[in-house]
Amino acid sequence: MKKLVVVTGASSGIGKEIAIKLSTAGHPVLLLSRRIDLMEKLELPNSLCKAVDVTDLQAMREAIKEAEESFGKVDCLINCAGIMLLGHPELQEYSEWDRMIDVNIKGILTGTNIVLKDMVERNEGTIINISSIAGRKTFDNHAVYCGTKFAVHAISENIRKEVSQSNVRVITIAPGVVETPLLSHTTDENIKDGYNQWKKSIESGLDPEQIANCVEFAYSMPQEVCIREIVIAKTKQQD
Ligand code: NDP
Repeated sequence: MKKLVVVTGASSGIGKEIAIKLSTAGHPVLLLSRRIDLMEKLELPNSLCKAVDVTDLQAMREAIKEAEESFGKVDCLINCAGIMLLGHPELQEYSEWDRMIDVNIKGILTGTNIVLKDMVERNEGTIINISSIAGRKTFDNHAVYCGTKFAVHAISENIRKEVSQSNVRVITIAPGVVETPLLSHTTDENIKDGYNQWKKSIESGLDPEQIANCVEFAYSMPQEVCIREIVIAKTKQQD
């Protein structure tokens, strides 16, 4: 059997496609998100689905421990869970900023904290963080979202360098706009309308399967090859 892959945010969008892709490639998969029904519906072979909030270190630890008891050590952690709450900085509720920082930043740290030491001791393992083009440059109405994704880039690159001598890879994937329900949690209807208009101008976002293809490609390289970052967007996306 191939090695265990953990995917957070596996109930929807990009994470769901990654879980399907790596399961199809023969990996046992631990699927994590809060909506367990959506993950169980996928009926992936050699999989375990757990309703876990990625900010809950203890719940993450228990889920990973249970999966490792069945499938062996985690070989790849894919941190995909995230939320995007766009807003005007002078109007947005503090609670929305707080939630993005919790899920998008602390939510990649929980799993990393649980698996990294072990990967370093074993001299193998891969962590793939789904950041965003919003982690490389800023966009209107994206202040704190961009802040969280810049943090994902910074944390990933810093850890990559520090664990590289232990043969552990840290890979950052930075997509442009992808067709998923991500925007639906934004509460400002005008911002949502503007975003949807812009998406029309580039003839929609990428299919989430394209991001899963990138993840599979980067992960399937030999352990000695680290694709540090992939930036991928619709050809017609200018920014
Ligand atoms: P979706 O809304 O389709 O998926 C988000 C996933 O995150 C869901 O599975 C959701 O599961 C999970 N999630 C959210 N909050 C939590 C939480 N507290 N605990 C556990 N899981 C959580 O969006 P995408 O697939 O588009 O987003 C996936 C990642 O891709 C995000 O990090 C996003 O920032 C990034 N991204 C997306 C782009 C896009 O245009 N769509 C572009 C660039 C990057 P549940 O609600 O069941 O808990």
